[in-house]
Amino acid sequence: MDLHCHLDLYPDALKLLPEVVKRNQFTLVVTTSPRAWVATSRVFAGYENVKVALGLHPEIAERKANERDLLLSNVAQAPFIGEVGLDGSPRCRPSLPLQRAILEAVIAECGRQGGRIISLHSRGATTEVLDVLEKYPSAGKPILHWFSGTSRELQRAIELGCWFSVGPAMLSGAKGRELLSKMPTDRVLPETDGPFATVNKAPLMPWQAKDIVGLLAETWRESEDGIHAKLASNLKRLLSDA
Ligand code: MN
Repeated sequence: MDLHCHLDLYPDALKLLPEVVKRNQFTLVVTTSPRAWVATSRVFAGYENVKVALGLHPEIAERKANERDLLLSNVAQAPFIGEVGLDGSPRCRPSLPLQRAILEAVIAECGRQGGRIISLHSRGATTEVLDVLEKYPSAGKPILHWFSGTSRELQRAIELGCWFSVGPAMLSGAKGRELLSKMPTDRVLPETDGPFATVNKAPLMPWQAKDIVGLLAETWRESEDGIHAKLASNLKRLLSDA
């Protein structure tokens, strides 16, 4: 399973789709703009185990600000939201006020619609993302994708009920592995963030999210079979009433 990939952005997405359907138990395809969601959900329709999430990526908030209303008006039809969030890295910092306005509006709308499963970007802005989630406790089930905050921020995210999607790229570093060891095992799911995330310079494929199973087994001191069962039960709980 892969809880955060950009399947629409692989060069041969349409050819990949049947393979992803076959190899993955479940794939959450996140989009970077509401118009991409409209197109992608049409093209990827008809597969029970592939869901397309409605997003507006914070890194392109300025360029896509004119799609803000399209984002908000489609929350009612979209059980999955993402990729949304905030990016506080130096390049994106200037648009933070705009990013925050968009994020707050979409999270508030998720709450009004009865809650959504939301895949969130939080690089360099973890505290600010958590502030928004805290303000709208009925927004649904937030999944912090590729969490890279501090241990203290992780603790706060856990208290706010957040889930975490972690992948091979995040866990290739000591910091990512350290954070993983502090996450609640019943709120962790695999992701790739492909094709942006890579291993050995090659884009991760959506079925490679499972490459983290060995590391999870080591970290949680469980067998690989035990990890597969655990992840399946986590997924089931995440998707219940979605
Ligand atoms: Mn992403």
